[in-house]
Amino acid sequence: MNATINTPKKTGEKVAQGMMENVLAQFNSAAHHIDLHGDIQKILKITNNEIIVHFPVKMDNGSVEVFTGYRVQHNNALGPYKGGLRYHPTVDIDAARALAMWMTWKTSLTGLPFGGGKGGIQLDPTNYSTSELERITRRFTYALGDNIGPEHDIPAPDVNTNSQTMAWMADTFMSTRLPAKRSLNQHVVTGKPDGIGGLEGRDRATGYGVFLTIKKFLAKQNQILKNKTFIVQGFGNVGYWTAKFLEEEGALLVAVQDASASLYNPNGIEVDSLKNYISINDNSVGGFPRAEIIDKENFFALNCDLIIPAALGNQITEENASKIQAKLIAEGANGPINNEGEKILLSNNISIIPDILCNSGGVIASYFEWLQNRNGEVWQLEETLTKLNHKLEKSFNKVYAYAQEESIDMRKAAYCIAIKRIEKAYIQRGIFP
Ligand code: GLU
Repeated sequence: MNATINTPKKTGEKVAQGMMENVLAQFNSAAHHIDLHGDIQKILKITNNEIIVHFPVKMDNGSVEVFTGYRVQHNNALGPYKGGLRYHPTVDIDAARALAMWMTWKTSLTGLPFGGGKGGIQLDPTNYSTSELERITRRFTYALGDNIGPEHDIPAPDVNTNSQTMAWMADTFMSTRLPAKRSLNQHVVTGKPDGIGGLEGRDRATGYGVFLTIKKFLAKQNQILKNKTFIVQGFGNVGYWTAKFLEEEGALLVAVQDASASLYNPNGIEVDSLKNYISINDNSVGGFPRAEIIDKENFFALNCDLIIPAALGNQITEENASKIQAKLIAEGANGPINNEGEKILLSNNISIIPDILCNSGGVIASYFEWLQNRNGEVWQLEETLTKLNHKLEKSFNKVYAYAQEESIDMRKAAYCIAIKRIEKAYIQRGIFP
């Protein structure tokens, strides 16, 4: 047997670096603003549980690789841990911790009965075949065992994972429970395909939410989306659907960036023709004929009204923030702006719709899927989108009003609201024993 051990590395990559620093600085600043009780601050600064599993998987060529998977459970004061699993070279324990914390604030802000968790595997999925990815996912699920569960910790898709990944997880989890309990466990993951309890519309929910928060923000400034120009970093699920909804409302996509290339066309890039192109081009935008290639360093500096980072963390930093001309940034990704970058943006009067509000449509739809499975229901798309809009409207208005009242930026406002809800839960329930 030929065994390879993928020793997990501290990724040291720009995207993973400092994520924890960012989320803690954001938390501390809000905690200070609301004068959060010191004991609760101590609890929330640290994660509840950190699960690291190493597991072997047989590769197509008969060799064996050992992978490392993470699941960090930050806090469950409001309900079961909830959050995605990502497959990416930048996944390490620090990234999982930071992303789990962001989920806690996100579910709290949105008023869901969930806490926050996150995890994944440090790998580049393009190096593996579909059947290898299936075995990796199934072994990972098996290794996690009862650390996940429909009333305990509920994973979902994230970067490089999708409804297929969730189907494999659900099937593995259910197949390894006692027969009488199998069908009761469908809601162990959300973001499943529609044939096995998935929610119609979960695929577009994050992008729809990003679009709605932008629209709501512009409405507060008496502006509309028609003829606004926008650029998107990342053309995966979030980037594509956001661009699609914005285009439908009359906005113009003028540039897109992914790992393969940065494309620009001031006359507009048609969203579905780019989508069709990537479907026959390894999911990469590079080589799309109806746009010019630009230097990746100049991407965020392009002349446009609106920027949507919808890829990884730490993309807008002190290195590029001062060149940004757009007046609004909507965070489709988690943590795309670091703290130094944010200071520059705010001092240049650039507004930011923060991740925990902007991209919360995904986890809201996950909640609907969870309810649907739990109650044995089948929701229709219309119902999902209407309820999503309603929930987002509520949290958007709360954040916007609080930011105005307190003369603070929307991120800080969103954090204050989220943390206060968790503080209340701790005050009411006390600390065991
Ligand atoms: N991965 C998504 C996020 O970061 C969705 C999480 C979920 O649906 O649980 O919000």
